[in-house]
Amino acid sequence: MLFDKFKPMAEFQAELAARDVVPFGAVTEEIISATEGVVSGRRVILAGTNNYLGLSFDARCISAAQEAAGKWGTGTTGSRLANGSFEEHQALERELAAFYGVGHAISFTTGYAATMGMTATLAGPGEVILLDADSHASIYAGVQLSGAEIIRFRHSDPEDLAKRLRRLGDRAENTLIIVEGIYSMLGDVAPLREIAAVKREYGGCLLVDEAHSMGVLGDHGRGAAEAAGVEQDVDFIAGTFSKSLGATGGYCVSQHPELETIRYCIRSYIFTASSSPSVVASTRRALQILQEEPGLRQRLWENATRLYEGLQGLGLPVGPSPSPVVAVVLEDRSQAINCWNALMSAGIYVNLVVPPASPSTNFLLRNSVSAAHSTAQIDTMIAAYAGLLEDGLIRAR
Ligand code: PMP
Repeated sequence: MLFDKFKPMAEFQAELAARDVVPFGAVTEEIISATEGVVSGRRVILAGTNNYLGLSFDARCISAAQEAAGKWGTGTTGSRLANGSFEEHQALERELAAFYGVGHAISFTTGYAATMGMTATLAGPGEVILLDADSHASIYAGVQLSGAEIIRFRHSDPEDLAKRLRRLGDRAENTLIIVEGIYSMLGDVAPLREIAAVKREYGGCLLVDEAHSMGVLGDHGRGAAEAAGVEQDVDFIAGTFSKSLGATGGYCVSQHPELETIRYCIRSYIFTASSSPSVVASTRRALQILQEEPGLRQRLWENATRLYEGLQGLGLPVGPSPSPVVAVVLEDRSQAINCWNALMSAGIYVNLVVPPASPSTNFLLRNSVSAAHSTAQIDTMIAAYAGLLEDGLIRAR
Protein backbone atom coordinates (compact mmCIF):
# COMPACT_ATOMS: atom_id res chain seq x y z
CA MET A 1 0.00 0.00 0.00
CA LEU A 2 1.31 3.44 -0.89
CA PHE A 3 0.59 4.76 2.58
CA ASP A 4 2.73 2.17 4.45
CA LYS A 5 5.88 4.25 4.13
CA PHE A 6 4.23 7.08 6.08
CA LYS A 7 3.72 4.90 9.19
CA PRO A 8 6.87 6.07 11.05
CA MET A 9 5.76 9.68 10.54
CA ALA A 10 2.23 8.83 11.74
CA GLU A 11 3.70 7.24 14.88
CA PHE A 12 5.84 10.31 15.54
CA GLN A 13 2.78 12.53 15.11
CA ALA A 14 0.84 10.36 17.56
CA GLU A 15 3.71 10.63 20.06
CA LEU A 16 3.59 14.42 19.70
CA ALA A 17 -0.20 14.62 19.93
CA ALA A 18 -0.02 12.88 23.33
CA ARG A 19 1.92 15.87 24.66
CA ASP A 20 0.64 19.21 25.76
CA VAL A 21 1.91 21.37 22.90
CA VAL A 22 2.93 20.23 19.42
CA PRO A 23 6.24 21.76 18.25
CA PHE A 24 5.72 21.39 14.50
CA GLY A 25 3.40 23.84 12.84
CA ALA A 26 2.54 25.53 16.15
CA VAL A 27 0.06 28.22 15.19
CA THR A 28 0.90 31.89 15.67
CA GLU A 29 -2.34 33.56 16.69
CA GLU A 30 -1.00 37.06 17.00
CA ILE A 31 2.18 38.97 16.10
CA ILE A 32 2.81 41.67 18.67
CA SER A 33 6.18 42.83 17.34
CA ALA A 34 9.15 41.39 15.43
CA THR A 35 10.15 39.56 18.62
CA GLU A 36 6.87 38.79 20.40
CA GLY A 37 3.73 36.89 19.52
CA VAL A 38 0.99 34.63 20.78
CA VAL A 39 1.73 31.03 19.78
CA SER A 40 -0.57 28.13 20.73
CA GLY A 41 -2.35 30.38 23.22
CA ARG A 42 0.85 31.59 24.94
CA ARG A 43 2.50 34.97 24.77
CA VAL A 44 6.10 34.21 23.83
CA ILE A 45 9.40 35.76 22.82
CA LEU A 46 10.01 34.72 19.22
CA ALA A 47 13.46 33.12 19.22
CA GLY A 48 13.15 30.93 16.16
CA THR A 49 12.19 33.16 13.25
CA ASN A 50 15.26 33.95 11.06
CA ASN A 51 14.09 37.57 11.30
CA TYR A 52 17.73 38.58 11.69
CA LEU A 53 17.32 42.33 11.25
CA GLY A 54 13.78 42.44 12.69
CA LEU A 55 12.41 43.99 9.48
CA SER A 56 9.27 41.85 9.14
CA PHE A 57 7.37 44.37 11.24
CA ASP A 58 9.14 47.55 10.14
CA ALA A 59 6.65 50.38 9.52
CA ARG A 60 8.50 51.51 6.38
CA CYS A 61 8.38 48.03 4.84
CA ILE A 62 4.72 47.62 5.77
CA SER A 63 3.71 50.91 4.15
CA ALA A 64 5.76 50.11 1.00
CA ALA A 65 3.83 46.83 0.76
CA GLN A 66 0.48 48.55 1.30
CA GLU A 67 1.21 51.19 -1.31
CA ALA A 68 2.27 48.58 -3.87
CA ALA A 69 -0.86 46.49 -3.24
CA GLY A 70 -2.95 49.60 -3.90
CA LYS A 71 -1.05 50.38 -7.08
CA TRP A 72 -0.46 46.93 -8.57
CA GLY A 73 -3.09 44.70 -6.94
CA THR A 74 -2.63 41.65 -4.74
CA GLY A 75 -0.92 39.31 -7.20
CA THR A 76 0.61 39.14 -10.66
CA THR A 77 -1.38 36.03 -11.67
CA GLY A 78 1.38 34.90 -13.96
CA SER A 79 4.96 33.85 -14.56
CA ARG A 80 7.79 36.28 -15.16
CA LEU A 81 7.94 35.00 -18.74
CA ALA A 82 4.28 35.73 -19.35
CA ASN A 83 2.29 38.55 -17.73
CA GLY A 84 4.10 38.51 -14.36
CA SER A 85 7.10 40.82 -14.97
CA PHE A 86 6.17 44.14 -13.37
CA GLU A 87 8.45 47.16 -13.07
CA GLU A 88 8.72 46.32 -9.37
CA HIS A 89 10.45 43.00 -10.17
CA GLN A 90 12.87 44.63 -12.56
CA ALA A 91 13.68 47.40 -10.09
CA LEU A 92 14.38 44.81 -7.37
CA GLU A 93 16.72 42.93 -9.71
CA ARG A 94 18.59 46.13 -10.59
CA GLU A 95 18.91 47.00 -6.89
CA LEU A 96 20.15 43.52 -5.97
CA ALA A 97 22.79 43.61 -8.71
CA ALA A 98 23.90 47.07 -7.55
CA PHE A 99 24.04 45.89 -3.91
CA TYR A 100 26.38 43.05 -4.88
CA GLY A 101 28.31 45.16 -7.40
CA VAL A 102 27.61 42.71 -10.23
CA GLY A 103 25.83 43.03 -13.55
CA HIS A 104 23.07 40.47 -13.25
CA ALA A 105 20.30 39.37 -10.89
CA ILE A 106 17.21 37.18 -11.02
CA SER A 107 14.46 37.29 -8.41
CA PHE A 108 12.37 34.22 -7.62
CA THR A 109 9.08 33.65 -5.84
CA THR A 110 10.73 31.80 -2.96
CA GLY A 111 14.26 31.16 -1.72
CA TYR A 112 13.60 27.46 -2.23
CA ALA A 113 12.78 28.10 -5.90
CA ALA A 114 15.99 30.14 -6.25
CA THR A 115 18.41 27.56 -4.87
CA MET A 116 16.55 24.58 -6.29
CA GLY A 117 16.24 26.26 -9.70
CA MET A 118 19.85 27.35 -9.95
CA THR A 119 21.30 24.04 -8.76
CA ALA A 120 19.00 22.11 -11.11
CA THR A 121 19.96 24.20 -14.13
CA LEU A 122 23.63 25.19 -13.97
CA ALA A 123 25.07 21.67 -14.40
CA GLY A 124 23.49 18.89 -16.43
CA PRO A 125 24.11 15.41 -17.84
CA GLY A 126 27.80 14.68 -18.35
CA GLU A 127 28.82 17.37 -15.86
CA VAL A 128 29.56 17.13 -12.15
CA ILE A 129 28.14 18.76 -9.03
CA LEU A 130 30.21 18.79 -5.83
CA LEU A 131 28.10 19.78 -2.88
CA ASP A 132 28.70 20.17 0.83
CA ALA A 133 27.17 17.16 2.60
CA ASP A 134 25.13 19.41 4.93
CA SER A 135 23.48 21.35 2.11
CA HIS A 136 19.90 22.59 2.47
CA ALA A 137 16.98 20.47 1.22
CA SER A 138 16.37 22.90 -1.67
CA ILE A 139 19.91 22.25 -2.95
CA TYR A 140 19.50 18.49 -2.67
CA ALA A 141 16.18 18.78 -4.52
CA GLY A 142 17.81 20.83 -7.28
CA VAL A 143 20.84 18.64 -7.86
CA GLN A 144 18.64 15.56 -8.09
CA LEU A 145 16.74 17.21 -10.94
CA SER A 146 19.91 18.34 -12.73
CA GLY A 147 20.90 15.03 -14.31
CA ALA A 148 24.53 15.79 -13.41
CA GLU A 149 26.79 13.38 -11.52
CA ILE A 150 26.45 14.26 -7.83
CA ILE A 151 29.39 14.01 -5.42
CA ARG A 152 29.15 15.09 -1.77
CA PHE A 153 32.20 16.33 0.09
CA ARG A 154 32.63 16.41 3.88
CA HIS A 155 30.93 19.38 5.52
CA SER A 156 33.09 22.53 5.36
CA ASP A 157 36.18 20.48 4.48
CA PRO A 158 38.16 22.20 1.68
CA GLU A 159 40.74 19.38 1.62
CA ASP A 160 38.07 16.79 0.94
CA LEU A 161 36.72 19.05 -1.81
CA ALA A 162 40.21 19.35 -3.32
CA LYS A 163 40.72 15.58 -3.18
CA ARG A 164 37.50 14.94 -5.07
CA LEU A 165 38.24 17.62 -7.67
CA ARG A 166 41.72 16.17 -8.19
CA ARG A 167 40.21 12.75 -8.89
CA LEU A 168 38.00 14.28 -11.60
CA GLY A 169 41.04 15.30 -13.68
CA ASP A 170 39.95 17.32 -16.75
CA ARG A 171 36.32 17.07 -15.74
CA ALA A 172 36.97 19.40 -12.77
CA GLU A 173 36.52 22.35 -15.11
CA ASN A 174 32.89 21.42 -15.80
CA THR A 175 32.03 21.19 -12.13
CA LEU A 176 29.56 23.16 -10.07
CA ILE A 177 30.69 23.53 -6.44
CA ILE A 178 27.88 24.34 -3.98
CA VAL A 179 28.27 25.62 -0.42
CA GLU A 180 26.34 27.84 1.98
CA GLY A 181 27.53 30.98 3.78
CA ILE A 182 26.17 30.33 7.28
CA TYR A 183 24.70 26.85 7.72
CA SER A 184 21.12 27.14 8.85
CA MET A 185 20.96 24.52 11.57
CA LEU A 186 24.16 24.93 13.60
CA GLY A 187 25.01 28.49 12.55
CA ASP A 188 28.57 27.67 11.47
CA VAL A 189 30.26 29.77 8.79
CA ALA A 190 31.75 28.05 5.72
CA PRO A 191 35.54 28.37 5.24
CA LEU A 192 35.02 30.33 2.03
CA ARG A 193 38.55 31.64 1.72
CA GLU A 194 39.90 28.08 1.57
CA ILE A 195 37.06 26.85 -0.64
CA ALA A 196 37.65 29.70 -3.09
CA ALA A 197 41.37 28.82 -3.19
CA VAL A 198 40.50 25.22 -4.08
CA LYS A 199 38.19 26.46 -6.83
CA ARG A 200 40.95 28.71 -8.21
CA GLU A 201 43.34 25.76 -8.32
CA TYR A 202 41.05 23.19 -9.95
CA GLY A 203 38.49 25.27 -11.87
CA GLY A 204 34.73 24.92 -11.94
CA CYS A 205 31.97 27.31 -10.93
CA LEU A 206 31.25 28.22 -7.30
CA LEU A 207 27.70 28.86 -6.05
CA VAL A 208 27.20 30.13 -2.49
CA ASP A 209 23.77 30.09 -0.86
CA GLU A 210 23.84 33.13 1.44
CA ALA A 211 20.28 32.60 2.76
CA HIS A 212 21.39 32.95 6.40
CA SER A 213 24.39 35.23 5.90
CA MET A 214 23.03 38.07 3.75
CA GLY A 215 22.48 41.06 6.02
CA VAL A 216 24.43 39.22 8.72
CA LEU A 217 28.08 39.01 7.57
CA GLY A 218 30.43 41.36 5.72
CA ASP A 219 31.15 45.07 6.12
CA HIS A 220 28.20 45.90 3.84
CA GLY A 221 26.05 42.93 4.81
CA ARG A 222 26.58 41.12 1.52
CA GLY A 223 27.35 37.87 3.32
CA ALA A 224 30.03 35.28 3.96
CA ALA A 225 31.78 35.81 0.60
CA GLU A 226 32.20 39.50 1.39
CA ALA A 227 33.42 38.72 4.91
CA ALA A 228 36.00 36.28 3.53
CA GLY A 229 37.10 38.72 0.79
CA VAL A 230 36.40 36.22 -2.01
CA GLU A 231 33.46 37.76 -3.88
CA GLN A 232 35.47 37.75 -7.14
CA ASP A 233 35.82 33.96 -6.91
CA VAL A 234 32.11 33.33 -6.42
CA ASP A 235 30.29 32.78 -9.70
CA PHE A 236 26.75 32.73 -8.32
CA ILE A 237 25.32 33.99 -5.05
CA ALA A 238 21.84 32.73 -4.21
CA GLY A 239 19.74 33.83 -1.28
CA THR A 240 16.35 34.58 0.13
CA PHE A 241 14.15 37.52 1.07
CA SER A 242 12.57 35.52 3.89
CA LYS A 243 15.22 36.08 6.54
CA SER A 244 17.15 39.37 6.87
CA LEU A 245 14.71 41.12 4.52
CA GLY A 246 11.62 39.91 6.41
CA ALA A 247 9.49 38.99 3.37
CA THR A 248 9.38 36.01 0.98
CA GLY A 249 11.18 35.32 -2.28
CA GLY A 250 14.68 34.49 -3.43
CA TYR A 251 17.41 35.63 -5.78
CA CYS A 252 20.54 34.75 -7.65
CA VAL A 253 23.17 37.32 -8.64
CA SER A 254 26.21 36.88 -10.85
CA GLN A 255 29.03 38.69 -12.57
CA HIS A 256 28.45 36.42 -15.61
CA PRO A 257 26.28 37.86 -18.42
CA GLU A 258 25.22 34.27 -19.18
CA LEU A 259 22.82 34.57 -16.22
CA GLU A 260 20.47 36.46 -18.57
CA THR A 261 20.26 33.40 -20.84
CA ILE A 262 20.15 30.93 -17.96
CA ARG A 263 17.06 32.83 -16.70
CA TYR A 264 15.09 31.34 -19.61
CA CYS A 265 16.09 27.78 -18.69
CA ILE A 266 15.16 27.68 -14.98
CA ARG A 267 11.93 25.74 -14.54
CA SER A 268 11.21 27.11 -11.05
CA TYR A 269 11.40 30.62 -12.55
CA ILE A 270 9.43 29.93 -15.73
CA PHE A 271 6.60 27.74 -14.50
CA THR A 272 5.44 29.59 -11.42
CA ALA A 273 3.71 32.90 -10.75
CA SER A 274 6.02 35.79 -9.86
CA SER A 275 6.04 37.41 -6.40
CA SER A 276 3.19 39.71 -5.41
CA PRO A 277 4.14 43.36 -5.95
CA SER A 278 3.52 44.09 -2.26
CA VAL A 279 6.14 41.47 -1.31
CA VAL A 280 8.61 42.89 -3.83
CA ALA A 281 8.04 46.44 -2.59
CA SER A 282 8.66 45.54 1.07
CA THR A 283 11.76 43.58 0.02
CA ARG A 284 13.10 46.60 -1.88
CA ARG A 285 12.55 48.82 1.15
CA ALA A 286 14.21 46.31 3.45
CA LEU A 287 17.23 46.06 1.14
CA GLN A 288 17.56 49.82 1.32
CA ILE A 289 17.34 49.78 5.14
CA LEU A 290 19.92 46.99 5.31
CA GLN A 291 22.35 49.24 3.44
CA GLU A 292 21.53 52.48 5.26
CA GLU A 293 21.54 51.08 8.78
CA PRO A 294 24.64 49.00 9.49
CA GLY A 295 23.81 49.48 13.17
CA LEU A 296 21.17 46.74 12.78
CA ARG A 297 23.89 44.24 11.97
CA GLN A 298 25.96 45.39 14.91
CA ARG A 299 22.96 45.00 17.23
CA LEU A 300 22.28 41.53 15.81
CA TRP A 301 25.83 40.44 16.63
CA GLU A 302 25.68 41.93 20.15
CA ASN A 303 22.55 39.89 20.78
CA ALA A 304 23.99 36.77 19.15
CA THR A 305 27.16 36.97 21.22
CA ARG A 306 25.20 37.58 24.44
CA LEU A 307 22.97 34.54 23.87
CA TYR A 308 25.85 32.31 22.78
CA GLU A 309 28.03 33.25 25.74
CA GLY A 310 25.07 32.94 28.11
CA LEU A 311 24.23 29.40 26.97
CA GLN A 312 27.89 28.41 26.80
CA GLY A 313 28.35 29.80 30.32
CA LEU A 314 25.59 27.45 31.51
CA GLY A 315 27.65 24.57 30.08
CA LEU A 316 25.14 23.77 27.33
CA PRO A 317 26.33 22.01 24.16
CA VAL A 318 26.35 24.87 21.66
CA GLY A 319 28.38 25.31 18.44
CA PRO A 320 32.03 26.37 18.22
CA SER A 321 31.54 30.14 17.90
CA PRO A 322 28.87 32.87 18.29
CA SER A 323 26.39 33.19 15.44
CA PRO A 324 22.85 34.53 14.99
CA VAL A 325 21.85 30.85 14.93
CA VAL A 326 22.63 29.27 18.29
CA ALA A 327 21.74 25.58 18.44
CA VAL A 328 21.68 23.44 21.59
CA VAL A 329 22.44 19.88 20.52
CA LEU A 330 20.57 16.98 22.18
CA GLU A 331 20.70 13.27 21.52
CA ASP A 332 17.29 12.11 22.66
CA ARG A 333 14.03 12.88 20.87
CA SER A 334 11.78 12.71 23.90
CA GLN A 335 14.13 14.94 25.89
CA ALA A 336 14.17 17.46 23.03
CA ILE A 337 10.36 17.61 22.93
CA ASN A 338 10.16 18.01 26.73
CA CYS A 339 12.70 20.84 26.60
CA TRP A 340 10.81 22.55 23.77
CA ASN A 341 7.57 22.36 25.76
CA ALA A 342 9.27 23.68 28.91
CA LEU A 343 10.71 26.61 26.94
CA MET A 344 7.22 27.39 25.61
CA SER A 345 5.88 27.33 29.17
CA ALA A 346 8.64 29.77 30.10
CA GLY A 347 7.48 32.03 27.24
CA ILE A 348 10.18 31.25 24.65
CA TYR A 349 9.47 29.96 21.16
CA VAL A 350 12.48 28.24 19.54
CA ASN A 351 12.71 25.78 16.63
CA LEU A 352 12.76 22.08 17.43
CA VAL A 353 14.76 20.38 14.70
CA VAL A 354 14.71 16.62 14.17
CA PRO A 355 16.51 14.44 11.59
CA PRO A 356 16.64 14.67 8.59
CA ALA A 357 16.37 18.47 8.98
CA SER A 358 19.25 18.39 11.48
CA PRO A 359 22.60 17.60 9.89
CA SER A 360 23.27 14.43 11.94
CA THR A 361 21.20 12.08 14.07
CA ASN A 362 20.97 14.77 16.73
CA PHE A 363 18.01 16.87 17.84
CA LEU A 364 18.36 20.61 18.05
CA LEU A 365 16.83 23.41 20.06
CA ARG A 366 17.57 26.03 17.42
CA ASN A 367 17.52 29.64 18.58
CA SER A 368 17.72 32.44 16.07
CA VAL A 369 18.51 35.93 17.23
CA SER A 370 17.23 39.24 15.87
CA ALA A 371 18.56 42.78 15.97
CA ALA A 372 15.11 43.62 17.32
CA HIS A 373 15.52 41.52 20.49
CA SER A 374 16.10 43.63 23.58
CA THR A 375 18.91 42.75 25.97
CA ALA A 376 16.22 41.86 28.53
CA GLN A 377 14.65 39.38 26.07
CA ILE A 378 18.02 37.71 25.45
CA ASP A 379 18.50 37.42 29.22
CA THR A 380 15.01 35.92 29.57
CA MET A 381 16.00 33.28 27.00
CA ILE A 382 19.18 32.45 28.92
CA ALA A 383 17.18 32.23 32.18
CA ALA A 384 14.71 29.83 30.52
CA TYR A 385 17.60 27.52 29.58
CA ALA A 386 18.91 27.77 33.14
CA GLY A 387 15.43 26.60 34.18
CA LEU A 388 15.81 23.48 32.00
CA LEU A 389 19.03 22.66 33.86
CA GLU A 390 17.45 23.26 37.28
CA ASP A 391 14.52 21.01 36.39
CA GLY A 392 16.90 18.26 35.23
CA LEU A 393 15.50 18.29 31.69
CA ILE A 394 18.94 18.90 30.25
CA ARG A 395 22.50 18.36 31.54
CA ALA A 396 25.52 20.62 31.29
CA ARG A 397 28.38 19.04 29.33
N1 PMP B 1 18.59 27.92 1.47
C1 PMP B 1 18.80 27.78 2.78
C2 PMP B 1 20.20 27.53 3.26
C3 PMP B 1 17.74 27.87 3.69
O1 PMP B 1 17.96 27.69 5.00
C4 PMP B 1 16.44 28.10 3.19
C5 PMP B 1 15.23 28.24 4.11
N2 PMP B 1 15.34 27.84 5.37
C6 PMP B 1 16.25 28.24 1.83
C7 PMP B 1 17.35 28.16 0.99
C8 PMP B 1 14.88 28.47 1.26
O2 PMP B 1 14.45 29.77 1.49
P1 PMP B 1 12.92 30.17 1.64
O3 PMP B 1 12.45 29.63 2.97
O4 PMP B 1 12.95 31.64 1.62
O5 PMP B 1 12.17 29.56 0.52
